[in-house]
Amino acid sequence: MNSEYFVTIGLEIHAELKTTSKMWCGCKNDPDSTTPNAHTCPICMAHPGTLPVPNLEAMRKVAQVGLAIGANIADFTEFDRKNYFYPDIPKGYQISQYKYPIVSGGCLAGVDITRIHLEEDTAKSLHDQGDFSLIDFNRAGVPLMELVTEPCIHDAETAVRFAKELQLILRFLDASDANLDLGQMRVEVNLSVSKDPKVFGTKVEVKNLNSFKTVEKAIEYEITRHIGVIEEGGKIVQETRGWDEEKQATFSQRKKENAMDYRYFPDPDIPKFYLSKLFDLEDMKKNLPELPHERRARFSSLGLKDDQVEILTGEKALASFVDSLGIEKKDSLVLAVNYLLSDVLGNLKKEGKEISASNLPNPHSMKQLMTLIEGQKLSSRGAKDLLVSGELNQEVDVEKLAESKGLIQKNDPEALRKIVEEIIEQNQKEWSDYKAGNEKLLMFFTGLCMKASKGSGNPTLFQEILKNK
Ligand code: ADP
Ligand code: MG
Ligand code: ZN
Repeated sequence: MNSEYFVTIGLEIHAELKTTSKMWCGCKNDPDSTTPNAHTCPICMAHPGTLPVPNLEAMRKVAQVGLAIGANIADFTEFDRKNYFYPDIPKGYQISQYKYPIVSGGCLAGVDITRIHLEEDTAKSLHDQGDFSLIDFNRAGVPLMELVTEPCIHDAETAVRFAKELQLILRFLDASDANLDLGQMRVEVNLSVSKDPKVFGTKVEVKNLNSFKTVEKAIEYEITRHIGVIEEGGKIVQETRGWDEEKQATFSQRKKENAMDYRYFPDPDIPKFYLSKLFDLEDMKKNLPELPHERRARFSSLGLKDDQVEILTGEKALASFVDSLGIEKKDSLVLAVNYLLSDVLGNLKKEGKEISASNLPNPHSMKQLMTLIEGQKLSSRGAKDLLVSGELNQEVDVEKLAESKGLIQKNDPEALRKIVEEIIEQNQKEWSDYKAGNEKLLMFFTGLCMKASKGSGNPTLFQEILKNK
């Protein structure tokens, strides 16, 4: 990248909120329902004479997100009409917030937040069915949160880190499932470059980014494109661009000249709100669920490594699993997490299975397994085999199961000594080398003994016997 240029990025992020009903009516909030128009009524289809009834739960969720990022929660807030015509917005306007958003300020992952407001999602237009378009109103009126950041980001990495952290917060608060590929969370990138860090360049907005990888690629692409245009003596035009996955490039969608004047004005059908009268904000703040940074700190204090902490924090099912183990001894917990992340997860990945409670070991079974390993009754190999078999995904008697599979280590000293003697007998040459000082051969002998015992012998005991001999 050309270091003469200063990059400026601001993000606009939408998230569909997880509420029981839609924003202004009692229809079920189920935008991804496979039956089109299953959740509609005169209000979300904008029949004349209908009136919106605000969804308090959606307002509470936005306030919770604000509290989680240390932002200001407005006392006074109101809803505005954002006027524009489009077939998927049947009222001819979208109800949004303009002057008085619910949340303002705050900071997350080093990025300053301008505001978070509440609005409604649009219906979904389907243009790929033939020589006509279809509209599915299941999504119409679903509560949608919009977060806007300050233009204070200067690289793709920071932008993506911020968006990922927001995704975690939304999930921890159960405010949104926030999957980018399902459109539950949508990231729009505003970007400009300038030679003078004190003067912003012309900004371009990039939409339709449905993965974090795409966000990163679109930012890199735009930085290069902007600098290229300017270096060739051209000018960047203010416009909205989309991402073409096939070409791995952004493309122009709408120029600034066609930008709309939305003629915002307060919606006369919706009352104004004083949030302090609606919610006990102090109480709400105190009762926020555990947040990502708090969970990270807790897992770190258990002695887990940073990369392990990150994986556990990012996956609800894994974090709950570790918490439900109820293992207090740090060493045992670390051991359990090692098996979980390397063997169980490795196997799920290999088999293309999702990380869910039902695909993970049962916590009681896992705990028994750890006890067997620590008591040297089960070898690491045996433990891995059991974990990967999936048989521990139910609550079982692990010792019995291991016994039935011949995995319980035989620690009878006489039996082990016999095996050692046989192995020495069969490998005379290596044995004299070992005795002559080639210590590497200890592993060779241990391996053969383990094999001879079909994995049931205790390797530490084998080594002790070998050394004594
Ligand atoms: P608009 O009215 O065009 O939507 P806003 O002022 O609302 O513009 O800003 C939208 C987003 O663009 C915000 O995230 C903001 O931080 C970002 N932004 C504003 N100016 C710039 C700029 N020059 N370069 C990059 N991002 C910018
Ligand atoms: Mg904007
Ligand atoms: Zn409805």
